[in-house]
Amino acid sequence: MNFLDKYQDEFAKYDQMEHDFIDDDKIWSQLKKWENPGKEDVRRVLKKAEQCVRLDPEEMAILIQNQDQETIEEMFALANQLKQEVYGDRIVFFAPLYISDECANNCKYCGFRSSNQDMHRKTLTMDEIEEEVKIMIEEGQKRTVLVYGESPSTEADFMCETVEKVYSVKTEHGEIRRANINCAPLTVDELKKLKEVGIGTFQVFQETYNHQTYREVHPEGTIKGHYRWRAYAMDRAQEAGVDDVGLGVLFGLYDWRFEMMGLLYHTIHLEEEFNGVGPHTISFPRITPATGTPFSDHPEYAVSDSDFKKLVAILRLSVPYTGLICTAREPDAVRRQVIPFGVSQIDAGTRIGVGAYAQSKQANALPDKEQFSIGDARTLDHVVAEICEMDCIPSFCTACYRAGRTGEEFMKVAKSKFVYNFCIPNAIFTMKEYLVDYASEETRVKGDEVIRQHMEQFIGQPVYDTIEKNLQRIENGERDLRF
Ligand code: SAM
Ligand code: SF4
Repeated sequence: MNFLDKYQDEFAKYDQMEHDFIDDDKIWSQLKKWENPGKEDVRRVLKKAEQCVRLDPEEMAILIQNQDQETIEEMFALANQLKQEVYGDRIVFFAPLYISDECANNCKYCGFRSSNQDMHRKTLTMDEIEEEVKIMIEEGQKRTVLVYGESPSTEADFMCETVEKVYSVKTEHGEIRRANINCAPLTVDELKKLKEVGIGTFQVFQETYNHQTYREVHPEGTIKGHYRWRAYAMDRAQEAGVDDVGLGVLFGLYDWRFEMMGLLYHTIHLEEEFNGVGPHTISFPRITPATGTPFSDHPEYAVSDSDFKKLVAILRLSVPYTGLICTAREPDAVRRQVIPFGVSQIDAGTRIGVGAYAQSKQANALPDKEQFSIGDARTLDHVVAEICEMDCIPSFCTACYRAGRTGEEFMKVAKSKFVYNFCIPNAIFTMKEYLVDYASEETRVKGDEVIRQHMEQFIGQPVYDTIEKNLQRIENGERDLRF
């Protein structure tokens, strides 16, 4: 069978549905209704947001449409407060690992698209994966997201093999403890296989929730051209038992205000279908220029830095229990600006070409192998030090996923704010490991100071002694201690 026809039978089910969970007209009418909200409307929504509850679409529309500087500042302040309450001032670190840039789709914005002649296609062999992973581990990474195009060389069985390979690599200093996946939508049976091999979060970005724009940028006749196959990818993941799912929008394809409402409607859909379990994470990349891809140079709906800042804060206020990922596509100055408004995860030390970790050891990563360009190309050590300077604590923790605190379990923990009791100590332990094993002298000094500051909140509690003992055990060479 032609590869592009592989899901034809599955598509039929979605084609028969009268409608999906995105009603474009309704979203626009809600945004229009609140075109110019008053201060009192905004403050009413902020009052509700203070309770750390998911907001409703009209409430989000009020925040999106707010143009009043005074209440926008109040939005920023509350977003920062909620972030502290739910996540503490932890920032979780990861790095992507590009497995393949072969792709049968033809997304107009992406350097991997099939019609891009400027790309030299490559899928890593198992040996090459091992080489990449060793370098990542030696740089201090503990969490990764594996990234694939959609092609006959990267079907589900191959993905499973790559996940197993990643987990099998050990060096003197450790191993990758959590491998998330960013790939094309899959069937329930394929997803069950990925669950078996222990993937972390399953990420599929809808790119744009607007039906018309979706059709325009994803040509008909490609697998990705099927909006609903993608929109219901997370329903199938839940059905397969993969309960940590990550949503995303590629900002710049359509009006950011609409896309925000799309993310919220998607979240509500999942909560309604799956016992209150919404997405584990939301990603919000902006389009960056990709090799041989003129579309990506000047996206029609490019989001300005000030709107970007606003949208991060609005996401934090609207879905307080969902992790927010700000990737290295953003320049370091932008990341510094938005982190306080609710970002919980960032990547650092990132290389996005296929085989780029190994290449970077020889020379600079080859630009023609990249899917898009990155804005923050600093080393992990550099970014870790900067996060410490912001008085936040870098975390490499993977405890929840390994203790089975995912999906509904994770939501229970997160929702009752107990996350604080697990996450801060675990951040301290994994940060200590990083400092002992990998950090430069300068980063070590800053990191130890941040650990000391974060210990203060436990003074007088029994847990303080346990944390202190564990820090000593880490100094003495023990690894992977966690609550
Ligand atoms: N092929 C899979 C898919 O399309 O879902 C997963 C991997 S794709 C390489 C990962 C994500 O990169 C896409 O979902 C898209 O949001 C993002 N992306 C594609 N082109 C981009 C660009 N020019 N700038 C920034 N992000 C881009
Ligand atoms: Fe392929 Fe994904 Fe790029 Fe589209 S976004 S061309 S599906 S790699």
